[in-house]
Amino acid sequence: MNKIYLRALQGTVLSTGAPLGWLIINYCNGSGIYQELQQNPMLYSYMLFGTMAVFIGFGIHVGRYEQLITSLAFKDALTRIYNLRYFRERLKDEVANSHRYHHPLSLIYFDLDFFKKINDQYGHPAGDKVLRSIANTIKKTTRINDVFARVGGEEFAVLLPRCDLANARLNAERIRSSVEKLNVTYNRSQTINITVSAGVVCLTENETAKALYGRADKNLYSSKQAGRNQVTG
Ligand code: GH3
Ligand code: MG
Ligand code: MG
Repeated sequence: MNKIYLRALQGTVLSTGAPLGWLIINYCNGSGIYQELQQNPMLYSYMLFGTMAVFIGFGIHVGRYEQLITSLAFKDALTRIYNLRYFRERLKDEVANSHRYHHPLSLIYFDLDFFKKINDQYGHPAGDKVLRSIANTIKKTTRINDVFARVGGEEFAVLLPRCDLANARLNAERIRSSVEKLNVTYNRSQTINITVSAGVVCLTENETAKALYGRADKNLYSSKQAGRNQVTG
């Protein structure tokens, strides 16, 4: 269950403690429960709903914080997509699954072209906005089982379980073209455009995660050498 709902629910349960406690004290002192509630409806309503509001509010605050801390362990703080640590774990697992069940596994590895120039020309915050916009744009095109991660400063990877090389190429081309079309507005008046170079690979028999990643990196390098804004693989 979502941590925010869980803590709010716990807050609701805990908030019954004060009116219930006071009711029990009065019962022990000889008052009947029904009679006690009838004589002091305002007091009991105040105790119940007052503490409920405070506890739920506090529960939501705690739940939000817990969710943030948990997500930071496997998400990148800037782009909110998966981080390198999570990607490495999933790559290892998916390679093992792919060998065991004999289904294809593809990897797209891409790097922004001349990104240093964007930072130099528009400043680091503008560069950060470009990274966030690209992550948001590509996240919308990935399937639920794909693992989209930021694996370096301006390097990203998409792991595609049950996807063969031909389909992975189509995916990579879609990514390349959507980034090319993206207009990132900065300071309201400035529009920043950027391109990406990508390497695509599909896992071969007995290939390790490291070897797969290495081939993707080589293909990415070929895209850079061939003039950038292209897909190799
Ligand atoms: P190439 O086409 O060969 O990849 O050129 P490039 O300029 O993209 O590559 P290079 O490796 O020379 O520069 C990468 C730049 O990415 C340098 C670094 O300042 C920038 N960068 C890395 N991480 C971040 C970040 O989190 N935010 C911003 N704004 N810039 C970053
Ligand atoms: Mg680059
Ligand atoms: Mg790079």
